[in-house]
Amino acid sequence: DSFDDFKITSNLRNALDDLGFEKPTPVQEQAFPIIMSGRDVVGIAQTGTGKTVAYLLPLLQSLPFSKEKDPRILILVPTRELVIQVVEEVVKLATYSSIKALGLYGGTNINTQKTALAEGADVVVATPGRLYDLVLSRALQLKTIKKLVIDEVDVMLDLGFRFQLVNIFELLPERRQNIMFSATMTDDIDALIQDFFVGVQKISI
Ligand code: AMP
Repeated sequence: DSFDDFKITSNLRNALDDLGFEKPTPVQEQAFPIIMSGRDVVGIAQTGTGKTVAYLLPLLQSLPFSKEKDPRILILVPTRELVIQVVEEVVKLATYSSIKALGLYGGTNINTQKTALAEGADVVVATPGRLYDLVLSRALQLKTIKKLVIDEVDVMLDLGFRFQLVNIFELLPERRQNIMFSATMTDDIDALIQDFFVGVQKISI
């Protein structure tokens, strides 16, 4: 149980060392090879288990190269606080690389976010409502997205984001990897998986 078991770039390894992370947590150990394999994944894990790094590490490791700064990774989370937190983790892991992350959430000026989007980002972290608004107003298109993460999907559905989620799914390219994390499994979540995921691999800790 060491980060040496993960084939990651020295850039990422150095960032983990700076963070003082000595070894992977159980969810990180389970998630890394499965996410790297490119399969769709559903993880049942609570906050505090290291689930954010569990999906960020393999995704940043395999971030598809692009000369244009079109977003290739989309991470949807239920709240503004979580957007800020996840962006912070991406920024820390990206210390030694040029990976650019952008956070988008409601309750703030949408025009500022449109300007930021025009400058480009590799990773977009967003709440579903604001993301959907930005797509509708053509400030963002989703056809370059290769990896989709939906974190805390249970909270997201409780907050009434099912409509936005389904609409976002419909706008994403068909060839993509889907990753979902939730603290619990419900019938609603299962229905989403049945409708939009393919050959799901499950992780639970
Ligand atoms: P999360 O479950 O993603 O909310 O993470 C909980 C906390 O654990 C965050 O503060 C992370 O920065 C931290 N963390 C994540 N992975 C590790 C690790 N391998 N070793 C120590 N701390 C970690």
